[in-house]
Amino acid sequence: MSDLLRGTAVQVAAAVNARQASALEVTEAMLAHVEGVEPGVGAYLTRLDESARSHAARVDRRVRSGESLPLAGVPVAVKDNMCLDGTRTTAASKILAGWVSPYTATAVQRIIDAGGIPIGKSNLDEFAMGSSCENSALGITHNPYDPTRVPGGSSGGSAAAVAAHEATIGLGSDTGGSIREPAAFCNLVGFKPTYGRISRYGLIAFASSLDQIGPLTRTVADAALAYEVMAGYDPMDSTSVQRDVETTGKPLPGDLTGVRVGIVREFDLAKLGAEAASLYQRAYGDLQKLGADLVEVALPTAEYGLATYYLIAPAECSSNLSRFDGIRYGLRVEGDDVTQTYEQTRAAGFGPEVKRRILIGTHALSSGYYDAYYVRAQKARTLIARDFAKAFEACDLIACPAASTPAFEFHAKSDPYSMYLMDYYTIPMSLAGLPALSVPCGWITPAGGTVPMPMGLQLTGPLFAERALLGAAHVYEQATRHAGAHAPQIGGAR
Ligand code: GLN
Repeated sequence: MSDLLRGTAVQVAAAVNARQASALEVTEAMLAHVEGVEPGVGAYLTRLDESARSHAARVDRRVRSGESLPLAGVPVAVKDNMCLDGTRTTAASKILAGWVSPYTATAVQRIIDAGGIPIGKSNLDEFAMGSSCENSALGITHNPYDPTRVPGGSSGGSAAAVAAHEATIGLGSDTGGSIREPAAFCNLVGFKPTYGRISRYGLIAFASSLDQIGPLTRTVADAALAYEVMAGYDPMDSTSVQRDVETTGKPLPGDLTGVRVGIVREFDLAKLGAEAASLYQRAYGDLQKLGADLVEVALPTAEYGLATYYLIAPAECSSNLSRFDGIRYGLRVEGDDVTQTYEQTRAAGFGPEVKRRILIGTHALSSGYYDAYYVRAQKARTLIARDFAKAFEACDLIACPAASTPAFEFHAKSDPYSMYLMDYYTIPMSLAGLPALSVPCGWITPAGGTVPMPMGLQLTGPLFAERALLGAAHVYEQATRHAGAHAPQIGGAR
């Protein structure tokens, strides 16, 4: 059974469908493993042992009745900004600390319908605002490869869970990098599909024009599997796209012959330091050895990505988070009148980063500043998307770093701006709505550190080119196998 805990989702589902193991056995083994390692990792805010057992029993009944389920018995970590009927859903905020969701997010429901077993609700930066999980008001999550370091964020709990083998698939949400950066930090594949591919119904909104759910897994094939289960039109999300999901079930390609990979002229690797620069040069060289043609592409407006994002995302968050008023959900701090109740609830319920964003966003949307900030940011967003569209006339995929550094130590980024910089490479893709993923590409021992930490290569495709993107990432992963080079310190050997 321990082999299955270390196995991929593809392997677990095959074993359960073939009745070599029952979903209940896999679940029991997983719950025991979680019990053992969770004190050192802190991936979960809520454990779902009892409901996991009943989901598993239901999967076993379905398999016994002859059904074959794509995720039969696969343990899943659900980021705690996704609703799951009857479970506490907190967004890692004090304002929702006791709130129980009354329905299930579409993406989570599709995972369950496909045989996946939610094992727990995983930690995140409060309302998904952050890059390290340190903004969680409810818990600390450690990087399983070095527990003195962060797992990344905001989907850090799901990343740590999968890295420590406390789940086989982690569900994350990515607004500006929150799947790709923690995937890079935790030696995983992290995949953000095209905006609109996976329903946001039941995802607690941060910045609705950017938020997108996606998987964190140990292999590209698992990411493809989880993506295909979750993707597809949902009438409950007005931004969900009605467009066929190309399946990756057919064999993925064996090499990259003829694939044009764009290398971004403006992304100067030298800025990352010699070690990281040579690591990425090697990754680009490996793509070339696998048959890809490397072409230089220009993204002249990408450098405005960070500034653009940090107007649009706070603007949308200031609007989305206005619903947390002490009346309708979660925490209520009673005041003398309704205004005081709002003020006291929000003052006590939101953490400092969330307050900062609400203030910035409210300012950017206020009369007199709207045109100067918000409208200009929207224009910059259009220019960034156009740059990508132009670049994709000359290439099929773009390769670049997922993050500029490996996982850092706790409290290393105490000023907000240095934390925002973590998303330098991931934000432009989010603003353009493009599908992008991070795949393990090597290891660096950080200055002052003692253990090697993983790094991620980001591959980005044109809108709706998920299949080509996953195919290329699979080829690279299979040829290089960087992920298996080191074992996590917590969660056991690979
Ligand atoms: N780190 C970025 C932020 O804090 C991105 C977060 C995300 O993608 N949810 O906004």
